[in-house]
Amino acid sequence: MIVEIKINYEKCIRCKECIKVCSYGVLEWLDDMPVVVNPKSCALCLECEKNCPVNAITHEEK
Ligand code: SF4
Ligand code: SF4
Repeated sequence: MIVEIKINYEKCIRCKECIKVCSYGVLEWLDDMPVVVNPKSCALCLECEKNCPVNAITHEEK
C-alpha cells in the first residue's frame, strides 16, 4: 500500500507538534513549515494526524 501524507498549509498554524511526535524522521521543519521529507519511512502510526490541533494532516491511499 502506498500512502500519501498531505499537509494543508492553509490550515497549519506552524505549531511543530507533528514534528515532535513523528519518531520515524518523515517530517522536518523547513522554511518555517512542516515538510514531508521521507514518505517511505512513514509507519502509519497516525500520531501526527492525531496531534495536529487543526487537522491539517491527512494520509491518503494512492
Ligand atoms: S503517521 Fe506516524 S510515521 Fe507517519 S508521518 Fe505521521 S507521525 Fe510520522
Ligand atoms: S501539527 Fe498541524 S498545525 Fe502543527 S505544524 Fe504540524 S501540520 Fe501544522
